[in-house]
Amino acid sequence: MPYPEQLKELIKVVESTRVDRVERKKKGEEVPFLSLEDRETMLNNHPDFKKEGRRELKVGASKGYAIAHEMADLLEATSRVDPAKIDVTKWDYETDVLVIGGGGAGTSAALLAEENGASVILATKLRHGDANTMMAEGGIQAADKGEKDSPYYHYLDVMGGGHFTNVPPLVEALVNNAPGALKWLEHLGCNFSKFEDGRMKSIHGGGTSRKRMHFAGDITGAEIMRTIRDESRNREKITVLEFSPAVELLLNEHGNVGGAVLYNLETQEYFNVKAKSVVMATGGSGRLHIQGFMTTNHYGATADGVVMGYRAGVPVSFLHTVQYHPTGIVFPEQAEGILITEKFRGSGANLVNIDGEQFVNEREPRDVEAAAIIQECTVKGKGVPTPTGKAGIWLDSPMIDMLSGEGTVRKEFPGKYILYKRFGIDITKEPMLIYPTLHYQNGGLEFQADGTTNIPGFFLAGEVGGGIHGENRLMGNSLLDIVVFGRISGKGAAEFAKSSFKDGKLTIDHVVKYNKEVDESKAADGRVAPMLLPDYTDPRVRERQLTTNYVGNVR
Ligand SMILES: Cc1cc2nc3c(=O)[nH]c(=O)nc-3n(C[C@H](O)[C@H](O)[C@H](O)COP(=O)(O)OP(=O)(O)OC[C@H]3O[C@@H](n4cnc5c(N)ncnc54)[C@H](O)[C@@H]3O)c2cc1C
Repeated sequence: MPYPEQLKELIKVVESTRVDRVERKKKGEEVPFLSLEDRETMLNNHPDFKKEGRRELKVGASKGYAIAHEMADLLEATSRVDPAKIDVTKWDYETDVLVIGGGGAGTSAALLAEENGASVILATKLRHGDANTMMAEGGIQAADKGEKDSPYYHYLDVMGGGHFTNVPPLVEALVNNAPGALKWLEHLGCNFSKFEDGRMKSIHGGGTSRKRMHFAGDITGAEIMRTIRDESRNREKITVLEFSPAVELLLNEHGNVGGAVLYNLETQEYFNVKAKSVVMATGGSGRLHIQGFMTTNHYGATADGVVMGYRAGVPVSFLHTVQYHPTGIVFPEQAEGILITEKFRGSGANLVNIDGEQFVNEREPRDVEAAAIIQECTVKGKGVPTPTGKAGIWLDSPMIDMLSGEGTVRKEFPGKYILYKRFGIDITKEPMLIYPTLHYQNGGLEFQADGTTNIPGFFLAGEVGGGIHGENRLMGNSLLDIVVFGRISGKGAAEFAKSSFKDGKLTIDHVVKYNKEVDESKAADGRVAPMLLPDYTDPRVRERQLTTNYVGNVR
């Protein structure tokens, strides 16, 4: 839907201040960054800081830790399978390494496990590559330009972005392995945007002190996913099982991980996989819509890996924070929640309120930027009203062509240009209306820099793990972490399968025990988890479905 008249009138206010803002930008006269103190004050507007949004967990390894209600609901739920009915003396598949999740982290892990001599099963919930990785737009960070940058500066930026709460060895592994990760992707055929002389293009992202954001147009994640998915399909020892989410982990009598129970979404059958090691790479949880926020995430982002790992005894960390990307589409509503990459701001587009005023520097860390937008729309009442009564802020994309030459928006942001064109909006001429959108799970299961957890043979990679980014991730560091830790965990899992694995009887007793704990705590209230797919059934329809134990749209 194009902008209706009422919004077109408001766009005239943006236009009236645009030339002046462009001129100031050219002279480098930016709205100053907030001081560290002012940033802390601004964060009071951030949803993470609402105490009523969280509660303490009543069960499990991190009992007493306060996390979002929506996540706690899943951790305080019983299994969706009856463990007594799972015959652990039999298995349908056997492999060295089982990778759970077919996004960037899982696929990188599968490749490295295979390269290190393991047979691999990669089980994924939807199609291979139907994942947050595929949707990533803006870029991937790596300090690979010798003279001006180094992993040292990258380290400081990551720590600063995470409010110095990050786990240092995880950050160290991230930044030191970054140049190698990028080289690996290039070697596999990933087409990053380059200058004619072959040098990689790079720009700033929020919170970066150097220009180290590499990208492939505005479809960086799709290009990375295309490259590694194709590669994995060409490797003989990798078997991919699609539409086969894992629902529980299996352990063995020695306390090692032993495999997983998979659910076939088409036939609704359950299958056991026996494995010598497991890499959990199920991604994030945007589809929980924490505090009612819209989300950028793909349909399968429902925190399943956190649920399965937590039940097996892995503590959670940093789950008290989630990331709201500052700029998600709030109008047109058919595209609600879809991310507008930070690269628009990096390329010069201002954030502008209803009065046509720029009110925040566009390169503040994400949490501060999101908090500033929320404050402008709520406390200050300077948001732009949408036809259905929501509020948003203008992201003034036409500034980019004025700053860098006509055609820049179409060339650098083809994905978004086409998306808006479908709604009859030309973002080279008209600004975009945005609001913060639930984007990234800062926390997750606890793990170490070598990808290991407290369960022998159980590795993690990607958004399912917590600690790398502390309480706030900077743009471009997640595409990086999935490749870095995917590779580390894949290699580690293959080595574990080869030299440390101790065979023994499979067991699912941890689920029996966990169910009992949940029942005794009376926390579950009939809920089961993992969620697998989000449920958007209208509550009025649900009431008429007369189902006593409602578990969403997956039986
Ligand atoms: C719109 C968008 C834009 C982004 N842009 C950037 C960017 O520019 N730069 C950056 O660094 N980061 C960006 N990010 C973040 C980044 O893309 C993700 O954090 C990262 O790709 C996550 O990778 P992953 O492999 O951990 O998870 P995913 O890529 O989400 O993959 C997880 C996979 O596991 C599957 N799965 C889930 N549950 C189960 C189960 N029970 N059993 C089996 N499989 C399961 C999922 O279906 C999915 O295929 C963006 C994210 C989004 C959503």
